[in-house]
Amino acid sequence: MRPPRLAPLFASARALKGVGPRIEGLLNRLVAPRHQGAHARTVDLLWHLPVGLVDRALIPRIADATVGELATLDVTVTEHRPGGSRRNSRAPYRVLVEDESGALELTYFRADHSFLKRLLPVNSKRIISGRIESYDGSLQMPHPDHVAAADGPDTLPPIEPIYPLTAGLTNMTLRKAITGALTQIPDLPEWIDADLLSKYDWPSFAEATKALHAPETEADLLPSSTARARLAYDELLANQLALAIVRQRFKKRAGRGLKASGKIRKTIQDALPFALTGAQANALASIDDDLASPHRMLRLLQGDVGSGKTVVALLAMASAIEAGTQTALMAPTELLARQHLATISSFAEAANLRVALLTGRERGREREAILEALKEGDIDTLIGTHALFQETIQFRDLGLAVIDEQHRFGVHQRLALQAKATGIGAELLLMTATPIPRTLLLTSYGDMDVSRLDEKPPGRKPIVTRTVPLQRLDEAVDGVGRAVAEGAQVYWVCPLVAESELIDAAAAEERYAALRAKFGEKVGLVHGQLSGKDKDAVMARFASGELSILVSTTVIEVGVDVPNATIMIIEHAERFGLAQLHQLRGRVGRGAAESSCILLYRSPLSDNARERLKVMRTTEDGFVIAEEDLRLRGGGEMLGTKQSGLPAFRIAVLPEHRDLLEAARDAARLRLSHDPTLKEKDAEALRLLLYLFERDDAVRLMRAG
Ligand code: ADP
Ligand code: MG
Repeated sequence: MRPPRLAPLFASARALKGVGPRIEGLLNRLVAPRHQGAHARTVDLLWHLPVGLVDRALIPRIADATVGELATLDVTVTEHRPGGSRRNSRAPYRVLVEDESGALELTYFRADHSFLKRLLPVNSKRIISGRIESYDGSLQMPHPDHVAAADGPDTLPPIEPIYPLTAGLTNMTLRKAITGALTQIPDLPEWIDADLLSKYDWPSFAEATKALHAPETEADLLPSSTARARLAYDELLANQLALAIVRQRFKKRAGRGLKASGKIRKTIQDALPFALTGAQANALASIDDDLASPHRMLRLLQGDVGSGKTVVALLAMASAIEAGTQTALMAPTELLARQHLATISSFAEAANLRVALLTGRERGREREAILEALKEGDIDTLIGTHALFQETIQFRDLGLAVIDEQHRFGVHQRLALQAKATGIGAELLLMTATPIPRTLLLTSYGDMDVSRLDEKPPGRKPIVTRTVPLQRLDEAVDGVGRAVAEGAQVYWVCPLVAESELIDAAAAEERYAALRAKFGEKVGLVHGQLSGKDKDAVMARFASGELSILVSTTVIEVGVDVPNATIMIIEHAERFGLAQLHQLRGRVGRGAAESSCILLYRSPLSDNARERLKVMRTTEDGFVIAEEDLRLRGGGEMLGTKQSGLPAFRIAVLPEHRDLLEAARDAARLRLSHDPTLKEKDAEALRLLLYLFERDDAVRLMRAG
């Protein structure tokens, strides 16, 4: 339960003065947490930081005002034009003002006429402040934020922070709400060590929060400002503590001490048509040590697409099976689960391992039979989607759980999964093909043991990557035609148009229709709107070579493996992030043949998009691409989106706050090493911190553990 003293911060923003139902709706859109149906709370307003400021010491002239920006102007009122009748209230009420440099219209929709006549009498001098717009060739200021008599400019705040807004919400209204939110900050004990506080000369949490909303100079708006740094540290500390708690709880459980002579593994390895890479062998050695050790394994296997993680997982599972336990491999999608089944069964056959599949689609009798066999211990390896960790599923003895592409599960699900795996008592191997920059690794996994597969299996040819403007789409299509005639297989990925799968599917369908008209039966289509069965059927036809061209949305992004496919076409590549482009490109270049990737883009390109495409042309190294991705996305931008699966920070920005992140990691580690359940007398502050930044899961886990 959240400590009562934080209640005012987690109350609905509606409770604040000046926030009625209309404003609440706007705030929900602007500041509420990003999950569906979330409502804006007081705390969300605190985390909504200003991005600029107006300094009224510099009053510009109308002629100098910039469209789209806020301006504070010294004007004389010249005329009122009430516009339409009250009933026809769609025409705005306009008030004309001027200074010696030019004229401007203040526009008011659904205005109270008599109020405006009192506020802005003709011939009066006024100071006005608001956003400048251009409409029908004239300068306008719709609904000024402030109007004050000219002889009293001090009634306007001399410096005003400017916030990101949403249509219909003025800066002044938002400021009022935020000012109200600031009064709700309760008295909180200090959770930062005195040493660190004095080292950085940080103010208290409350002071820092207030300072962030009262910038005096542009420098105060930067991530490096003292107030921002303090709060970023708070947020990162909460993040690191939460991760450390999960990890500690996990590690505390006795390991299974799974020891195997390596017989089963050797049988499988002898049957493999290739030798392990050095990186694979190293990863396996670490995994073996973990499995045999008295501590529970919690290891992340990081490796680019095609680096051979699945094989490592299989050989790790072989040890766990030989030690007498069962194993599970969980994938984020059905498609991937089926593909793992195909790969793994073919290799596992040599050792007579009993492998089964369980997804949402296995139902009725079939499902019953699998569950029964699982309970009896007649299944060695169960492959599936997150259906695997449902309550009804009982293993006889699960020794090792492998979670593939687990970043796709989202941060909350991930915590839940790890907690569940803890309950099950299995050793845990996590795998990800998203090369995560070291900094971010720390924010999403904490101090986890990591193995990197940084070496591609031998014989892979480089992928030739080219960028082609969409105007030359026809040439690309002709090229595809020639390649297909020579037996090549092609992925054609359609852009992410919207957050909506439905709309993405429509774009893919259009391209599919066009390609099909040209190439006929050889073209297939997969997108998220198809049923799992239909999707698999199309994929299977592509994998078997029956289809030559597979049009898709990004559903094929992760892990799909068709070694014969050698051409990847990505339409509107400029709309994709680097990590995603890299993942998509990794679908080709898996066999021995030359592969190519064509990035179709719409020009003109933004500078950022141009750089992204350039990175794609110049390197295939996922770890390099990941670092570039972080750099190009820059601090503030949405590192925590669904796509990346990385935690979203409200205040901290990476890589700018990298040092603070490391300090937070050290502090969390030190603290938990001598006070693992946060019981010491000053620990209440840290618990408050966890709740303040909504790491409640971790607190609950700590209680339970
Ligand atoms: P990942 O899961 O990391 O994307 P996979 O394990 O699916 O990669 O491996 C990609 C392909 O490379 C598979 O076809 C696999 O059989 C093959 N492979 C794996 N390890 C090696 C190796 N050491 N040498 C050659 N091929 C390999
Ligand atoms: Mg894989």
